[in-house]
Amino acid sequence: MPPLPRHTVADIALDEAVRLRCACRVRTFTRAELVARVGRDARLGMIGLRPELRCDDCGEPSFEGWTVRLGRVAP
Ligand SMILES: [Zn+2]
Repeated sequence: MPPLPRHTVADIALDEAVRLRCACRVRTFTRAELVARVGRDARLGMIGLRPELRCDDCGEPSFEGWTVRLGRVAP
């Protein structure tokens, strides 16, 4: 799994989304959702640890994250 290649939410392309894996599932956040929750300047390297993005089900932070192109079939 490649690391997140960019630095902040503002660097995500409009047609990309971020996937975050917690203890129970993988969630997908679009750029707009991330801007609304954590702001454009949030650093992607630590974004899964932000309390705003913590999973509602397991309550765990996400230690893995990666970007995906919207519209592509999920692996
Ligand atoms: Zn979870």
